[in-house]
Amino acid sequence: MKATAPHMGRLDLVLKDIFSRTGIDFVMPPRTSAKTMQLGLRYSPEFACLPLKVTIGNFIEAIEAGADTLLMAGGVGPCRFGYYAEIQRYVLQEANYKFNMIVLEPPAVGWKLFIETLRLLAPGKSIYQIWQIIRISFRKARIMDKLEKYALKYRAYEVHRGDTTEAHKKALEIMEPAFTDMEITKASEKAFAVMEAIEKDMDKPVLRVGIVGEFYVLLEPFVNLDVEEYLGHMGVSLERSVYLTDWISPSSKNQIMGISDEEIARAAKPYLNHFVGGEGLPSVGHTIIYAKEGFDGIVHLFPFTCMPDTIAKSILPQVSRDLDIPVISFVLDEQTGKAGVLTRLEAFVDLLASRKKHRELARV
Ligand code: SF4
Repeated sequence: MKATAPHMGRLDLVLKDIFSRTGIDFVMPPRTSAKTMQLGLRYSPEFACLPLKVTIGNFIEAIEAGADTLLMAGGVGPCRFGYYAEIQRYVLQEANYKFNMIVLEPPAVGWKLFIETLRLLAPGKSIYQIWQIIRISFRKARIMDKLEKYALKYRAYEVHRGDTTEAHKKALEIMEPAFTDMEITKASEKAFAVMEAIEKDMDKPVLRVGIVGEFYVLLEPFVNLDVEEYLGHMGVSLERSVYLTDWISPSSKNQIMGISDEEIARAAKPYLNHFVGGEGLPSVGHTIIYAKEGFDGIVHLFPFTCMPDTIAKSILPQVSRDLDIPVISFVLDEQTGKAGVLTRLEAFVDLLASRKKHRELARV
């Protein structure tokens, strides 16, 4: 079996680690690019949300690189993600690609099915061994998420432009080969030492901005046009509402981001009191939490035709007025031009900076 999966942030590193432990070959698709997007667009239904199109492109590139088994997550709830695997299977079969598909449904669909699927991905391993593989790979993945969180927060303070990106890359390279618990601990110490060693000016005036929105767009830099790095270079310290391991984990604690699903739902309740699929409710809840924590502004990103975050977008202007926090929403699709998004972001950051200055002057 030569397995593959679509890109979503650094999911590739996590899967590479897991498959190296289960003994299955993992074919990493080329990183998502304009070519990936073109391939996805050629075969996908036009009305589909952007992540479906890009992930179909990833699968085609992986099959062309030798993959024969496509791994896709399933899903539950009022959002099209739960149908992705079926549509991908249909579209790729229609395009005459030959492959097997394994759909990993979340435990919410049923533990029995979940465990049976895991057994397919770890042939010959006992449940205990599979659990150990998941435990250790998750531990490593959480450390990689913490490194990313560090980069988002501190890039704004770097003295030399690009140092954080470079250090983050190096830190991930240190983590990648770590295999045993002991090696992961040592690699983690080294990787954080690399991040700490970035020369920073902690007296620099920076803005604090929360990034909220649809999980795939937030996690995949090609699709979000790398806005996080761009904002960091503009002196914006970021907090993101979703990290890879929080999203994958069945636990609702969100260890990396640090706010549980219950707290998010409680915060959102005055404006939205039920789950609407995807990140619709979290986008509202996080905006409220960030506003109460004194953040300077919110950037909201989601794909065109995404129902859950379209609901959030219709609520956020009211939240923005009530809690006096500027919010800017970007609807992204294959037609979105990077220059246009960056220009609007630049204007938004200018607005936040002048608001902050006036408030500070008013306080004197
Ligand atoms: S959350 Fe939105 S963009 Fe993502 S799969 Fe669901 S409908 Fe599509």
